[in-house]
Amino acid sequence: MSFVFQPTPAPSVPVVGQTERFPVRRIYCVGRNYEEHAKEMGFTGREPPFFFMKPADALVVVNEGETGHMHYPSLTQNFHHEIELVVAIGTGGRNIKAADAEKHIFGYAVGLDMTRRDLQNDMKKQGRPWCIGKAFDESAPIGPITSKHQALDINNANLDVSVNGAIRQNSNVAKLIWNVAETIEHLSAAWELQPGDLIYTGTPEGVAAVNAGDTLVGRVAGLVSLTVKVEPAL
Ligand code: MN
Repeated sequence: MSFVFQPTPAPSVPVVGQTERFPVRRIYCVGRNYEEHAKEMGFTGREPPFFFMKPADALVVVNEGETGHMHYPSLTQNFHHEIELVVAIGTGGRNIKAADAEKHIFGYAVGLDMTRRDLQNDMKKQGRPWCIGKAFDESAPIGPITSKHQALDINNANLDVSVNGAIRQNSNVAKLIWNVAETIEHLSAAWELQPGDLIYTGTPEGVAAVNAGDTLVGRVAGLVSLTVKVEPAL
């Protein structure tokens, strides 16, 4: 097959302990999935989960033991971190029941749902799509994927993010309003999941701004940590 220009290579993420990489198809994200974060955003209660997407090429893929680089994005004065457990789908399906969700999971990774909070808030106020606040270039740092067989008790894993060594967000996956299995049930009712899909499962409380020069370290217990530095704007 020939093309009028060279197609962009498909994004992919390394897999811990093997040379084959995980090819990424789509990135789904869950909004307001920890109660204390929902409250800090001005909401309460267990509303049904809702979803937004990021383009797959928004990933900043960081290898184990390395520091990734993302540039301070344009148009914002309030660039926020959101530490999240990322679920990697290995087997697709639609209308997957929570009880069957586990067999569709390939593994897990540490991710950051980086957010232009001022722009997201503007869009919310105006009832407009969140794309400019959420789905911008380099908005989805991610570390290597650990297979589900190697990840221990992910549903009770602590997760945290530090900025220049100071802890900013610190919680536990057990506090998800909609757990991983329930999230897959809801998501697969709306879209047919496919191998290669990533799900950013939501962030706990403590979201805050970062600046150029800051270094973020995101951790989920049992997974490879994610280190990424904010570089000056392009
Ligand atoms: Mn998020």
